[in-house]
Amino acid sequence: MRITMLGTSAAVPDPDRGGSGILLSVRDRHYLFDCGANTTRSMIKSHINPTQVDTVFLSHLHFDHIVDFPYFVLASWICDREKAPVVVGPPGTQNFVNHLFEGGAFAKDIEARVQYPRRQNTEVLKPDVRECEPGIVFEDEFVKVTACYVEHIPLEVSPCFGLRMDTVDGESVSFSGDTAPCDRFIEMSKDVDVMIHECTFPESAIEFRKKANIGTWAHTSPKQLGEIAKAANAKRLVATHFASYDTTNPVLRDIMSPHMPVEIMGPALLDEVAADIQRTYKGDLRLAHDQMRIDL
Ligand SMILES: [Zn+2]
Ligand SMILES: [Zn+2]
Repeated sequence: MRITMLGTSAAVPDPDRGGSGILLSVRDRHYLFDCGANTTRSMIKSHINPTQVDTVFLSHLHFDHIVDFPYFVLASWICDREKAPVVVGPPGTQNFVNHLFEGGAFAKDIEARVQYPRRQNTEVLKPDVRECEPGIVFEDEFVKVTACYVEHIPLEVSPCFGLRMDTVDGESVSFSGDTAPCDRFIEMSKDVDVMIHECTFPESAIEFRKKANIGTWAHTSPKQLGEIAKAANAKRLVATHFASYDTTNPVLRDIMSPHMPVEIMGPALLDEVAADIQRTYKGDLRLAHDQMRIDL
């Protein structure tokens, strides 16, 4: 299996990190977890043809995890995709998809392009949506994907899933989606080869947010992440979904200033994050960046 981190930021536009997107490649098949901003372009940059990606799992319906989905479908249509992708996501996924393509937001684009002989295959614009509940959510001859609820948005508003993939080759990867520390996710991730977990804010930013009353719930801190990875006995840990606190971009620093003190922002904060995770977790740790690749 190969893991390619296509996007590693949170919700604010980051020039150096795309929104949440992870490609898991098993033998000759590609499975996408989340489709945040820039995911499709990032596939091309990672030498993956989007028309070869047939299965998409959406952890939850926050825009930083789904906003590139219409682009993924439309762009791969004009790149001669042959069949519609399967989309596995929480309740609400069908409604999201229903509003996008024929008769939806991109209706005029589709009506225009379908005039061309090469664009007759509008079946690819009808994703096979499978809204899921916790448990086994997908199976084919190479992989089995399991989902559990995680602690992010209140369940009655919008369910959020953590996911685990087990392959026919005996490899396993789990992905937290967005979540506060969650026992169900730890349980689901037991002895996993690679845990990919969100780590949205460093401890120092969380302190600032507490004092400024901005709110810190619904995400996982580096110290908590170390404890989670240890409790799950994860062989490797990839921390991701960074809220742009390592940026040096002046506009982004200004945008982020209500969320954390500008003077602590910058690449050195990643060292603090790694050290805080490693207080507890002694396994192999990687801090994700776009295009980062792990071969199992
Ligand atoms: Zn997010
Ligand atoms: Zn979220």
